[in-house]
Amino acid sequence: MKEANKREWSGILVYLECYKGKLHAASEELIGEAVRLSQVSEDLIYVAGIGQHMERIQEALDGYPVAKAYLYESEDEYESPLYTKIMAECIEELKPAIVLVGGTYEGRSLAPGLAVRFQTGLTADCTGLAINEEGNLVQSRPAFGGNIMADIVTQFSRPQFATVRPGVMQKVAKNEQNVTEYVNKKVKKESKEIEIISLKAEKLEKGITEAEIVIVAGRGVKKKEDLEMLKELAGLVGGKLASSRALVEKGWMLPKEQIGLSGNTVSPDYMITCGVSGTVQFMAGMKNTKNIIAINEDPKARIFEIAHYPMVGDLYEIVPELIRIIKERRGDR
Ligand code: FAD
Repeated sequence: MKEANKREWSGILVYLECYKGKLHAASEELIGEAVRLSQVSEDLIYVAGIGQHMERIQEALDGYPVAKAYLYESEDEYESPLYTKIMAECIEELKPAIVLVGGTYEGRSLAPGLAVRFQTGLTADCTGLAINEEGNLVQSRPAFGGNIMADIVTQFSRPQFATVRPGVMQKVAKNEQNVTEYVNKKVKKESKEIEIISLKAEKLEKGITEAEIVIVAGRGVKKKEDLEMLKELAGLVGGKLASSRALVEKGWMLPKEQIGLSGNTVSPDYMITCGVSGTVQFMAGMKNTKNIIAINEDPKARIFEIAHYPMVGDLYEIVPELIRIIKERRGDR
């Protein structure tokens, strides 16, 4: 790592993830966290994003307490070499002390490359951020399989890079009195070191991280076919089916559907866990859930320590009964 003259670096820069004029929720959550940190550090907040229809991103930013926003209009969707180059130039110009990046596929690709360029530290998947007495960013994250929380500081080099997964931090309210200086730039087409020869468009649908209601299948589900019952419940309540790692390891669910330390962080309004024990690794990904309904046949299961509505019993009895009641209330036959 390269020792930096810390006095030359100030401000908090949030990398904005932009997709066809839409701002990723994780970016807004990071602005919220930057606001909280700046209340201690008194840093200015900057944001920078690259993509198409940046005028819509500008609209989405209006009202946030952001001092300066760098918006780069680019014909190209996310490409690691191009986006890294643009962001590196932006960081070089701004010299922020802290750079916050979403712990998304894009952010996980971008942040390490930038940290290497600046020969500085990066802490991935932080679950808590704070400023210590020396003015350094304290980056907290689970370590050693989630059994301990580690506080990490980048003491001598700058900037301090941290990624945070979607759903971990909270947005802040906008205020129309906040005025942002917008710096709008256009990315010049240039010969690329890497050429994308084909791009398969995937239908963008809401994943478990954006769902307001999540039904979680755990190892208590005995057969893959039994997931149909939970899918039906999810469909009836307008939710998404997710799982603990146990079912991803069995190959019954996809990694993008896994909640937890090595999966996704979710913060839905309602979660119904079915046959999930509540290990620290699982709970690391769902702590901000507003209402937890836990179904488990073991009254001593750890999930009951955090459940708002504990249901002790066999999921194979409770879930069909829930489905029956919902259908009855809806007037289904
Ligand atoms: P179990 O712990 O086996 O629990 C099953 C529960 O089902 C039990 O409590 C049982 O009482 C209940 N049950 C059984 N039958 C029924 C029934 N018929 N009705 C009602 N209840 C029933 N795990 C994750 O989930 N996410 C992660 O991101 C993750 N990351 C990890 C990272 C590392 C580095 C490590 C080491 C582990 C990680 N794990 C993760 C794995 C984790 O330690 C557990 O193995 C996993 O969370 C267990 O999932 P589970 O609760 O579904 O299964």
